[in-house]
Amino acid sequence: MDRSRSKDTSVAPRVLVVEDEADIAALIAYQLTREGFRVETASNADQALSSIGREVPDLVVLDRMLPEVSGDELLRLLRSESATQRIPVLILTAKREQEDRIEGLELGADDYLTKPFSPRELVLRVQSILRRVAEPSPEAGGRILRAGPLSVDVNAHEATLEGDRLSLTPTEFRLLQALLERQGRTQSRRQLLERAWDVESDVAGRIHTRTVDMHVRRLRAKLGPVGDWVETVRGFGYRIRIPHGEG
Ligand code: CA
Repeated sequence: MDRSRSKDTSVAPRVLVVEDEADIAALIAYQLTREGFRVETASNADQALSSIGREVPDLVVLDRMLPEVSGDELLRLLRSESATQRIPVLILTAKREQEDRIEGLELGADDYLTKPFSPRELVLRVQSILRRVAEPSPEAGGRILRAGPLSVDVNAHEATLEGDRLSLTPTEFRLLQALLERQGRTQSRRQLLERAWDVESDVAGRIHTRTVDMHVRRLRAKLGPVGDWVETVRGFGYRIRIPHGEG
């Protein structure tokens, strides 16, 4: 995204924690601060929005259960505004039902943690999300990936379709990149998790592969007329395939 910022290691990443339960917010803030992050906390959506208005954070840790405006509504709002739609979001959910988790991911969260979680796990997830947002994958090497009308500038973190910029979240961008880097080849959900999510193997095992399905669904929708180039390979995973005559 912002290359000047991601290269500048003297500025610690800023994390906004949105959680109304004061003790949980304090615990998260304590852990992240100890790991070198700059942390701000907000106990409701209004506070979160004014904090973001002052300085756009590098990542938001967002509890789904907030008074008045829920975490889901706040996430929907963030994803609908151009200034905030690319902020990575880690969702905290107390709900255990799979459908509820999936719902959160469909709204555009980059990852989620179910309460109760270990503070160490939260730090690992935050670090993992920020790593994949900040760094182009080593094999990309500044290339511009093209497929027909689709173009992905890896260093600029910009994807365009027929010259029009696509509004992709950081995770959707990395997913598209991973698919385009291996055009025509099928990749398993696990491979996509490792490539697009850049998680270490011990963390990868704890992220549900349905996460990949949710992001693929959203990516397809955003790709509009070429969304069906992202093909489901039943029982295995996904590939992007350019129809003959389009490439
Ligand atoms: Ca809460």
